[in-house]
Amino acid sequence: MRIVVKVGTSTLAHSTGRLNIRQVEKLTKVLSDLKNTGHEIIMVSSGAIGMGSGKLSLKKRPDDIATKQAAAAVGQCELMYTYDKLFSEYHHTVAQILLTGEDFEVEKRYENFSTTLQRLLELDALPIINENDSIATEEIVIGDNDTLSALVAIGARADLLVLLSDIDGLYTADPHKDPDAKLIEIVERVDDGIIALGGDSSTKLGTGGMKTKIHAARLCTEKGIDMIIANGSDPESLYRIVEGESVGSKFLGRRA
Ligand code: GLU
Repeated sequence: MRIVVKVGTSTLAHSTGRLNIRQVEKLTKVLSDLKNTGHEIIMVSSGAIGMGSGKLSLKKRPDDIATKQAAAAVGQCELMYTYDKLFSEYHHTVAQILLTGEDFEVEKRYENFSTTLQRLLELDALPIINENDSIATEEIVIGDNDTLSALVAIGARADLLVLLSDIDGLYTADPHKDPDAKLIEIVERVDDGIIALGGDSSTKLGTGGMKTKIHAARLCTEKGIDMIIANGSDPESLYRIVEGESVGSKFLGRRA
């Protein structure tokens, strides 16, 4: 299988903003092992701004664009240094690709991206993708890595996109507020009812950014790609996912 795994900042970092070493070590171990069994893995990783803020000893995550873009430039190095070090322990070679919205809109750039990605997989490297946060401006920003990972999954003709989050999946109501909220294991179709479950705000804490995840699900499933939302606190669930067990919420790709 060709699998795109998107890792959010909540999976990579503690609430202090510093690296969650235990979790990142577990994740890189599982992904290395899945590669060893013959699966093709592409990662979409967040965390550049958060890690850069930590490295620059900023007191809090920056609000202004210039500092955010500077923090991303620092944090992206730190992020790739960490992945390179950890994946190297299992003899896997990482490759960094940074993208902006324009790279999906300008045909030639999109073609270059797809060709490079394909070649990296043929060379058995592990592409790790993020938005080019130091360059992206309002006009060309993709804005969130859920959407970016869906665009990557489509460009890579992946079989599956897995979004690792701080929530188990999509619920019938906000599980932080409603004790009767139930996990929806299978979503056959991303219809208006499902879109409404995402809420209004992409940053609403209680829903774990569900709006952008449902948007990603719509993009993927329309192109026939399955998407799963699972809890990133248990990277070993990726083994169960590839074995076809029910984990988190699965959005079924439309079959022609
Ligand atoms: N590209 C951002 C970063 O690396 C994260 C965006 C997102 O989490 O959706 O900090």
